[in-house]
Amino acid sequence: MTTRLIYCILLICFSNICTTAYAAKCKAKHVVLIGFDGWGSYSVEQAEMPIVKELMESGSYTLRKRSVLPSSSAVNWASMFMGAGPELHGFTTWGSKSPDLPSRELTHYGLFPSIWGLFRDANPKAEVGYIYQWDGFEYFAEMPAMSYTCHGKSDTLVAQKAVDYIIEKKPVFLGVFFDEPDHVGHQIGHDTEAYYKKMNQLDGFLAGIINALKEAKIWDDTILIVTSDHGGIEKGHGGKTMAEMETPFIIAGKGIKKGYVIEDSMMQFDVAPTIAHIFGLKTPQVWIGRPMKNAFK
Ligand SMILES: [Zn+2]
Repeated sequence: MTTRLIYCILLICFSNICTTAYAAKCKAKHVVLIGFDGWGSYSVEQAEMPIVKELMESGSYTLRKRSVLPSSSAVNWASMFMGAGPELHGFTTWGSKSPDLPSRELTHYGLFPSIWGLFRDANPKAEVGYIYQWDGFEYFAEMPAMSYTCHGKSDTLVAQKAVDYIIEKKPVFLGVFFDEPDHVGHQIGHDTEAYYKKMNQLDGFLAGIINALKEAKIWDDTILIVTSDHGGIEKGHGGKTMAEMETPFIIAGKGIKKGYVIEDSMMQFDVAPTIAHIFGLKTPQVWIGRPMKNAFK
């Protein structure tokens, strides 16, 4: 009986130590990163996006996160995931499928270190999901590091797959990347009625994802990030105007300040270190990004 009692006490102590150590290391158990390709900060005030605005009020944000140059897709998604600029990771154009100059460093994945591989190496058994609309996403993240990948061919499909996956697997780290409003921006134009209509639809998809996190009962232990690679002007992007270069960065959820405007300078490559900060990961020396620590309570 005494042995059994001692065993029970030890077990309780041990599990408390584990819980405490884990809690001290991680700011939240789950991170969901949502990207809207071509979503410029210029559009936020005018856009009918009630969910995004609710997240801005209940969380922290900046509308002044800058793209790296050129203000194009692959180079910016790579910088967002890889914690460094094109001079270091080597993806330099809108559609780079491999580094255009040698990456300064390669990991065992044969790729410049990104947040995905970094997280996987520290958490071999965690559920990691990567759902994307543009197949370009297959080149600047460590695909073998993912538990689940899904190439959804429409934004509706991407949203549906994300909802189903969240409810079924309760991922620890999930990326959901829509290829809009970039298409509308190119075909009809930025800052047009069609562009705002698309933003309103994307806001609805965001609502569905948040509801799924609640249904999966992980919402209270989740940090949600909503951001973009670049904005746009007229029917394009890639240039040096602020309409093309400034994108929103919204972070909300467990342990995040409410209604806080991030005044610190933020670059595209500061996103990965901010996620590393949430998960308590040591960042590679080759990264130059900084975590947005002031957004945390
Ligand atoms: Zn893009």
